[in-house]
Amino acid sequence: MIFEPELECMDVEARRAVQGERLRALVARVAERVPLYRERLAASHVKAGDIRGLGDLTRLPLTRKTDLRDTYPFGMLAVPRRDCIRVHASSGTTGRPTVVAYTTADTDLFARVCARSLAMAGAEPGMMLHNAYGYGLFTGGLGIHYGGERLGMTVVPVSGGMTERQLLLIQDLKPDVITCTPSYALTLVAECEKRGIAPDALSLRYALHGAEPWTDGMRVQIDRGLGVRCTNIYGLSEIIGPGVSNECVEARDGSHVMEDHFYPEILHPETGEPVPDGGEGVLVITTLTKEALPLLRYWTGDITSLTRGTCACGRTLVKMALIKGRTDDMLIIRGVNVYPSQVESVLARVEELAPHYRLVVTREKNLDALEVQAELAGPFAREIVRETLSEEIVEADHQLRALRGRITKLLHDTIGVSMRVTLLPPGGAPRSEGGKLNRVTDERPRA
Ligand code: ADP
Ligand code: ZN
Repeated sequence: MIFEPELECMDVEARRAVQGERLRALVARVAERVPLYRERLAASHVKAGDIRGLGDLTRLPLTRKTDLRDTYPFGMLAVPRRDCIRVHASSGTTGRPTVVAYTTADTDLFARVCARSLAMAGAEPGMMLHNAYGYGLFTGGLGIHYGGERLGMTVVPVSGGMTERQLLLIQDLKPDVITCTPSYALTLVAECEKRGIAPDALSLRYALHGAEPWTDGMRVQIDRGLGVRCTNIYGLSEIIGPGVSNECVEARDGSHVMEDHFYPEILHPETGEPVPDGGEGVLVITTLTKEALPLLRYWTGDITSLTRGTCACGRTLVKMALIKGRTDDMLIIRGVNVYPSQVESVLARVEELAPHYRLVVTREKNLDALEVQAELAGPFAREIVRETLSEEIVEADHQLRALRGRITKLLHDTIGVSMRVTLLPPGGAPRSEGGKLNRVTDERPRA
């Protein structure tokens, strides 16, 4: 079903007119109410009245995470703090958290875009939602929660962690839809396997995963392991939280951006120049309708691309590709840009491996070195290894040695950088306990 068909399937030109009108009002509002924007617009010689529509967007200054940090906690609010009914904070993946706030209208918008997302993913009123996103300052839990209620679902606010209890609740309450990080979905898949719970014994039909990068390889594992058709949900607290975009279950080839509220652009990571549709670059978003914390051209740091055209689902909202990584988690290995997701996609093609890995970056004799620790899949590993898998064991075992050689070559041929591959026994790589999972350890000395 489509939650707001008249808006999600709107004629593209009509939508552009609405977006342009909203942009005009937004610029006037922030110029009047947010000192940082007043100064920045003046510095770039833009008067609020100069902005007549979307065509003028590129004249506006960019906003970066540092702007929110510099004005921490409430310096960029466009309304008095007392008019805000809720705050959240970013999870602080890349440093000190950023505090964001919402008016009543903002929480209403948040619930609506999450309801749209759930509907895109296959959810319908009356279905039961097992929400295993963390509740609290993180936007995921409460965001999806109110979205589920708005759609008319029965929401089970499980939050993250306590995997055993999660499975018990899934088996007893029989939810139709689950929401959690993709890495935690894999934890649930593994737990089901361990307990001999067959995917078709689970009631789950649809799943929304996001908050961290994932790949089509993981999608296959989750679909199969939980017996669902899973889709990608994307968002960030600065813009609103989850519900900035979501894939439709019909096409699953890109996430529809709620562009009537969050207008996306793709810019070149170094020059900041607009990148044409289809090209990869940094996603930059302007919040067209938010009240408490409106942002002009917010540099998300996330790498993706946009494609337009009517979708099989009937929506006309622009689609963004799976996030390839963040400019700030991009590893530069001997001058080559490497995203963890690229390594992950290569590992996913090797059937002897489990979908778990760790990357360790070190500097040896002034040269960056990337070690890929790849975990063996249970069925393959059981024949040859027990708990430990030392270098000596790998060296002595021709099957393991050949496997390691094959992975090394595949990584090199695909990404263009040589990496050292080590093999981990089943269970050797970190698992998600419910929140975001950090798979990269950078041991290079700080400059
Ligand atoms: P933090 O920046 O501290 O992690 P958030 O909790 O707001 O703060 O997380 C937002 C970030 O999470 C996004 O900028 C993006 O990097 C990542 N993210 C969210 N959803 C997805 C997704 N579906 N795919 C990939 N990355 C995602
Ligand atoms: Zn679609």
